[in-house]
Amino acid sequence: AKEAGKGRYQFFNQGMQQRAERTALMHTWLKTALATKQFELLYQPIIEVSTGKVVHAEALIRWYREGETISPLEFIPVAETDGSIVEIGEWVREQGMDLLYHYGSSYGFSLSVNVSTQEIWSHLLQDGLLTSIDRIAARLGDDFPFDQLTLEITESLLMEGHSNLIKAFEQLRAKGCKIAVDDFGTGYSSLSYLNYFPIDQLKIDKSFIRNCQQSPKQQALVNAITKMSHALNLTVVAEGVEDQWQLEFVKSVGIDFVQGYFYAKPLNKKDFIALLEASKSR
Ligand code: C2E
Ligand code: CA
Ligand code: CA
Ligand code: CA
Repeated sequence: AKEAGKGRYQFFNQGMQQRAERTALMHTWLKTALATKQFELLYQPIIEVSTGKVVHAEALIRWYREGETISPLEFIPVAETDGSIVEIGEWVREQGMDLLYHYGSSYGFSLSVNVSTQEIWSHLLQDGLLTSIDRIAARLGDDFPFDQLTLEITESLLMEGHSNLIKAFEQLRAKGCKIAVDDFGTGYSSLSYLNYFPIDQLKIDKSFIRNCQQSPKQQALVNAITKMSHALNLTVVAEGVEDQWQLEFVKSVGIDFVQGYFYAKPLNKKDFIALLEASKSR
């Protein structure tokens, strides 16, 4: 038993050390990733349930480094601890807002970008998310369609009802931007923020959708979240819809929008525009 215990301890240690080394490498790699154009922004279509049309998309970042694809689930948390998330966030908005500016009105879609909680905290101290968005919009032209831009934030941001934060989001909304709460239901936070934080949309996390078919309780939860959202004048997106059963369920509940592999994976810019073109001529 002692031997096994020791072995496990060493194994655990080794895993921790490997992870620490990988994280240290990533901090180094992140310093040159932007300048050497290693990031790409993909666009995952979001479909309006009532019409079956692509009316929206979510921008999702990819990192290709020397033949390896590093998942945002791995590198975003690292970028959040060394501050590089601020530049990455800026880059994501530049790319996303550029696409929206040039194609948003002709194809009639809106775009969501993810905004990291850590980035917003650092922005509050420095420059402001609002200023960043204004600066990018002004570079593009004087007619940027703010009302077609959604900012996805997570519940962790909403836990403290910081008054500067609420003010910043109210200013963004005054311009027409929408605010969505991402991964709704996974954040262990109280629902009281629904009372005071200005939001427009809830995105039901894919973990709720995944187990729906086997679980009447899960179905009841999704149903209740949808009813609550509509009573609060929020639209609802179901994330991670992967099959016909899930789509039918989501329809029966009255969810407004679906996102998931059943319709489409995240696409590169060219393929996304081709898809918009194809659904336009249909
Ligand atoms: P998220 O914001 O919840 O994004 C949705 C994730 O679900 C994406 O993973 C998407 O590819 C995946 N997904 C979409 N449909 C399906 C489906 O039917 N089944 C399954 N199993 N998954 C589906 P991805 O692209 O790997 O991104 C992971 C997370 O990384 C995102 O979760 C978000 O938290 C973060 N992230 C991605 N791009 C950005 C970004 O530009 N900025 C920031 N701050 N975070 C980002
Ligand atoms: Ca998201
Ligand atoms: Ca999500
Ligand atoms: Ca997430």
